[in-house]
Amino acid sequence: MKTKFVYLSILLAFSLSGVNAAVPDCQSVVIGSGVAGMKAAMDLKDGGNKVCLIEKMPFPGGATNLAATYFVAVGTKEQKAAGKFILVDDYVARQKKMLPNVDVDKLKAQMLCSQKNLDYLNSLGANITRVLSDYQIGTADGTSLGSSIVKVMFKALKEKGVAFYPNTKALDLVLKNGVVTGVKVRSGNEEFVIPTKNVILATGGFAHNQKLVKKFAPEWAGLPTTTAVGSTGDGLEMAVEHGAKTAYTDVVRMNPSVHSENGVNSSLSAARAEGGIMVNLDGKRFCNDYYPDYTQLSRWLQKQKGSMAYIVIDNKAMKASKRLQGFKDKGYFLQADTLAELAKKMGVPPKALEETAKRYSEFVKNGKDLDFGRQHNLTLDFSQPPYYAVKTQPGIQVTLGGIDVNNNMQVIKKDGGFFPNLYAAGEVTYDGSFRPGPTAVGLYQGHIAAQNILRKSN
Ligand SMILES: Cc1cc2nc3c(=O)[nH]c(=O)nc-3n(C[C@H](O)[C@H](O)[C@H](O)COP(=O)(O)OP(=O)(O)OC[C@H]3O[C@@H](n4cnc5c(N)ncnc54)[C@H](O)[C@@H]3O)c2cc1C
Repeated sequence: MKTKFVYLSILLAFSLSGVNAAVPDCQSVVIGSGVAGMKAAMDLKDGGNKVCLIEKMPFPGGATNLAATYFVAVGTKEQKAAGKFILVDDYVARQKKMLPNVDVDKLKAQMLCSQKNLDYLNSLGANITRVLSDYQIGTADGTSLGSSIVKVMFKALKEKGVAFYPNTKALDLVLKNGVVTGVKVRSGNEEFVIPTKNVILATGGFAHNQKLVKKFAPEWAGLPTTTAVGSTGDGLEMAVEHGAKTAYTDVVRMNPSVHSENGVNSSLSAARAEGGIMVNLDGKRFCNDYYPDYTQLSRWLQKQKGSMAYIVIDNKAMKASKRLQGFKDKGYFLQADTLAELAKKMGVPPKALEETAKRYSEFVKNGKDLDFGRQHNLTLDFSQPPYYAVKTQPGIQVTLGGIDVNNNMQVIKKDGGFFPNLYAAGEVTYDGSFRPGPTAVGLYQGHIAAQNILRKSN
């Protein structure tokens, strides 16, 4: 197919100074090119809408690029074939038990689209077919979920000829009588307004903005984050400035295993997944190191001396994971041939670490963690030196709240009612839970917002 992809130069744009070279003709402006924004832009284009997708970074994808493992889908044919099948209603009931405040109708509506969402991504070539559980599916060859999604969606977007403006940052919304009439943007040294009839905010989360973390989720202020640098809450701030209502802004998904090195924050959760245990500076375990609620796990870790822990593994675990070997090559791991030697490098009492390892190996042998009830990946028997330890602390992975929206993804006003032509989709508007699957939620919400715009304009 001939590529009709348009990178619009800012010089062609509508300048605030009044110089009007060639005004981009946008019936709709989608702000942010993660999974939510790309889906919305493609659906709008398919529906004949003149859509402009703007992105402040030089490249697309945002935090979606970083989504590591699983796409949430329920009741799909892939899961049926793998014998890991649950009906949508049963899944929703299970969620309700875990999260009593969950909006059952919204969750059900999204989950009923599981097969459609999955088929859509796979029709573009994402290859998300490896069933991990009755609600999680990963890529067939284990490559990162997010980079696969961005790669295929961006390719499709180019083929459709969606007008994409990289390096173009939305600064503000222009409103008249409660109706959005344009988006003020900056690109290079130019600032200008793109007039439009509809705006979809798909600007992602705010974990990379300490000011907002302090304001909304002070419990986690000052900690590193593993999310994308562009996740600075721009859309949330813009909407709030114009009177939008927020919801669940205090809820974040923590990562209990962040290693920071030279300003780079990496998730070392794979070390726990390969069986690793967490020990504190006393050389002792302090919790179920594979507890599924990462935020609770992070709270336990925060209470340890120095608010940090080491994840300890042996060579068997290291050999099993390419991801961990990559981190080892970057020098993230301390390494020693004996546990006593490793303990010295870690600055923990050698005897304590040896005792911890001995006791844990017994638990592994008997299949029962008598101290903290760990059930998953109870495999580390310390039988293969060398031993490795990596220093970790908690960090924010995803912010789980933001702009409040109605069922059409229209932004709700703080004082009641909603903005008729202002929408939000994706991490900018999650409703307090990671479990519906951030990438799946973004895909679904981008679609709903676009469909609503198309319905209104036809
Ligand atoms: C380490 C990690 C692991 C994860 N693992 C998973 C997983 O296994 N499964 C899963 O489903 N989810 C996972 N997630 C979460 C998921 O990646 C994100 O929540 C989701 O992809 C966000 O999509 P989005 O489209 O809402 O936002 P993003 O993908 O963040 O896109 C937002 C875009 O908006 C742009 N933008 C922001 N402000 C402006 C502005 N003012 N003007 C123009 N552009 C702007 C940003 O640069 C960005 O490109 C993970 C996240 C992280 C960080």
